[in-house]
Amino acid sequence: MSGERVLVIDDKPENIELLTEYMLRPKGYIPLVATNGEEGLHVALTHRPDLIILDLKMPKMSGLQVLQALKERKANIPSILMTGYGSEHIAVQAFRLGVRDYITRPFEVDEMLDAISRALDEEPLLKKQKAQRANLEQRETLKKQVDLLQRMLQVSHALNSSLGLESLLQTIIEIARELTETEASSLLLLDKETNQLHFAAATGVKSQKLKSISVPIDSIAGWIVRKGRPLLVPEVRRDPRFFRQVDAITGYATRSILGVPLKIKERIIGAIEVLNKAGEKIFTLDDARILTILAAQAAIAVENARLFTEVKNEKDKLQTLINSTADSIILTIGEDDRILLINEAARKALSIEATPVVDKPLAEVMSNEWLIDLFARSHADSKTERAEIPLADGRTLNANLTLIPTVGRVLVMQDITPLKKLDEMKSDFVTTFVHDLRSPLTSIRGFVDLLPMVGKLNDRQCDSIARIQRNVANITALIDDLLDIGLIEASIGLEMDICHLDLIVTEVVDHSRRRAEAKEQHLQLISPASLPPVLGNPLRLSQAVRNLLDNAIKYTPPGGRITVQIGEEGDQIIVQVKDTGIGIPVADKPYIFDKFYRVRSEETKDIEGTGLGLYIVKSIVDKHNGRVWVESKAGEGSTFTFILPKY
Ligand code: ADP
Repeated sequence: MSGERVLVIDDKPENIELLTEYMLRPKGYIPLVATNGEEGLHVALTHRPDLIILDLKMPKMSGLQVLQALKERKANIPSILMTGYGSEHIAVQAFRLGVRDYITRPFEVDEMLDAISRALDEEPLLKKQKAQRANLEQRETLKKQVDLLQRMLQVSHALNSSLGLESLLQTIIEIARELTETEASSLLLLDKETNQLHFAAATGVKSQKLKSISVPIDSIAGWIVRKGRPLLVPEVRRDPRFFRQVDAITGYATRSILGVPLKIKERIIGAIEVLNKAGEKIFTLDDARILTILAAQAAIAVENARLFTEVKNEKDKLQTLINSTADSIILTIGEDDRILLINEAARKALSIEATPVVDKPLAEVMSNEWLIDLFARSHADSKTERAEIPLADGRTLNANLTLIPTVGRVLVMQDITPLKKLDEMKSDFVTTFVHDLRSPLTSIRGFVDLLPMVGKLNDRQCDSIARIQRNVANITALIDDLLDIGLIEASIGLEMDICHLDLIVTEVVDHSRRRAEAKEQHLQLISPASLPPVLGNPLRLSQAVRNLLDNAIKYTPPGGRITVQIGEEGDQIIVQVKDTGIGIPVADKPYIFDKFYRVRSEETKDIEGTGLGLYIVKSIVDKHNGRVWVESKAGEGSTFTFILPKY
């Protein structure tokens, strides 16, 4: 065989010539040349020849130093060392450095050629064998790694699947047994109360029997749990910690055990063990690594199951709790309002079938349009929205929908049908009653007004008549208010038309100007040149503005300032009545729009009123699909605002 590249490193040109021209070239080898050790090393490293023939004694770097340097750089090139004088010591050193042959000068041509061909012949064979071995080992390791990865993937899939804890743990220990090439495996969990371990999963035919036994804490598994460290017991029979009862039950003969702890953060909850490495082999570090990874996965599975049970228990408790209340309750989550909890009362009220509805969007399982509207409305900024929900069976529910940030929305509904009935009866009664009262009152007022014309009256008589007139006016106002409420609520005479709210507001303000001036109040109207119209009833809208302005004048002391402003914002028209009056105490604020509610205080005790003005305002605004609210500070003034959608 020829064509191999042979590097000759020698400081003597005649030696080089002899080797290259008379031995190597004629035999078909390709010679490379270096004339000192350093150069030789460089050529060897850059060109990687098939063989190096080098002199022992050279300036700067000896042959041995070159070999040493090559070895350090892991350049495994066969080499032949030439030296002028033989020495055992040098030979040993040279062979330690991997030299193939050692030739003493002067040498015969054949002797050198023999050495060269031996070195080159031997090399490919050795290389091949080594490469084959390395290849095999690499393949084996790769296969093992791929296997391991695949199994780990399987465990991850299992963890994400809906498998129950028991089958999950079983899968994990089966894989542990396979990957560590052992005969059996098991997973034990610590019972904190009894301080004993029990088998949560085990391989083998009789493994089910293990579930009924408890393993003491001074066992091998117990040691792993107590110390939180892996443990290898090569011969269990000699270990006093070995818990023989397990073998007695399974009829199995445990020889060796490798175990690792199951950890959740720093908490040890149990251990995984593999038993008897197959083929009498011994456990390796890889086995411990594999087991540790699987233990981490198993710990996650156990923890997930524990958390799941905890959450489920809490949810069940909550469900029992809300089921026992008479109110209808629904808890929803997410943008699409998926049902998280719903109680029996709510199911009945909304005729929701008994099929599983949890996790379904609420709109999919019920069709009550008032409720759908309430949910749609509450997406806006306000935290709680209220609505009366008529049901198909004629009942009415009072619904409060509250936004719970980051959780969802909770709907609580009470049956107010009896109250509604009562209210209707009361309204009917009041309407009839006030109607009947109006006629005698009209005649009382007529006669009282006529009295001064009958004859001259003295001062006391005049005073009494004035009082009667005032009181009759109050009762008439009350009756008018009550009648108005009845009409507005029943939507009687509430025909809607296109109206210009700015004109209505201007008219009301102009009409009230004299009264404000009489109280030396400064009344100002701020209105843009033109505003889009609204759809409404002009008489009722005028009444709403009038009630607000009347109140502002009434509850603002002389010298105060009242500002009425109208404007637009987005697709809404805004009307605002602002005063610098007595304001409204915080405690009274939530109730002032209620029927008959009046603030009872030192400032209000001499101010007359029915407590119906704001209720009427709210009823009118509601009927116009608007919203009314107040901002106020006691002692500083109030701002009443209502908004209506533009036409
Ligand atoms: P009333 O006939 O008593 O004025 P309303 O329904 O109009 O009844 O008002 C309810 C209560 O709200 C009043 O009794 C008063 O205490 C308070 N209130 C209304 N408007 C104002 C205001 N502009 N400033 C201070 N308090 C007011």
